[in-house]
Amino acid sequence: MVAAQAVPAAQAVPGECGGAPARAGRPPADPHGPEPGQVGRALRELRERLDTLAAPVPDTVVVPTWVHVLTDGRRPPEAAVRSQIATLNAAYGGAHGGVATGVRFDLKGVTVTRNAEWFAHPVTHETAMKAALRKGGPETLNLYIAQLGQLVLGYSTYPFWYDRDPTLDGVLLDWRTLPGGSLRNFNRGFTGVHEIGHWLGLFHTFDNGCQEPGDGIDDTPPQATPSGGCPRGKDSCPGAGPDAIHNFMDYTYDACMREFTAGQGVRMREMWVAYRGSGTAGAAR
Ligand SMILES: [Zn+2]
Repeated sequence: MVAAQAVPAAQAVPGECGGAPARAGRPPADPHGPEPGQVGRALRELRERLDTLAAPVPDTVVVPTWVHVLTDGRRPPEAAVRSQIATLNAAYGGAHGGVATGVRFDLKGVTVTRNAEWFAHPVTHETAMKAALRKGGPETLNLYIAQLGQLVLGYSTYPFWYDRDPTLDGVLLDWRTLPGGSLRNFNRGFTGVHEIGHWLGLFHTFDNGCQEPGDGIDDTPPQATPSGGCPRGKDSCPGAGPDAIHNFMDYTYDACMREFTAGQGVRMREMWVAYRGSGTAGAAR
């Protein structure tokens, strides 16, 4: 979603990410970062739901995944869609670095819809498009592939938004960010990895800057600003260790990103139990 779009205040804090220019160069105040306090509120609600459900946090989560390709004639090749899913499984499995998060993605199917308006203006037509295409419940990842523009490469909802608006749940990606796509520095499929991190409940490593609670994860150092490109020796908050520039939840080039932390893996599986896991979301609603 673009910054100028009018959305309800509580929803103007999406897991949306800067596009190439934003990720590469625009310091320090990301206009889409969470408002102060949102991370803390999300964590408190997560703990409450986990206490209420009293369900164990699983070591492994398998996410049923549907991909919806929008096209005006232009579209990623089918191989790129398959490669995107493989990229997700490699990244979440720790194949590039960091930990194996325990999260895997099981591709259930691909739909292709020829609609030039939805392809070119997926945010404008978000509700109609998702209402028509969406499959499954809170546990199903609906990944919409369309064209977003130069400043925003992807957009995701958070799991704790699901109850409020199930239809809008999902991730929207610019088709040129898929593996082998045409967006230089952002075409290894890691925009998808990053956005789905939001869909599973992660914030940016730089959210809340140097202030507590940061991104709400214990093993990602506080970070004052998003990182662009692939900086060397960046340490933007005193005393807490260098910025996690290789983390998938920062804004660096795809070639610079490679890891999730153990804390992020646990958080995604906690969020899964609280909001998405089969049977749990309905019971807690
Ligand atoms: Zn993001």
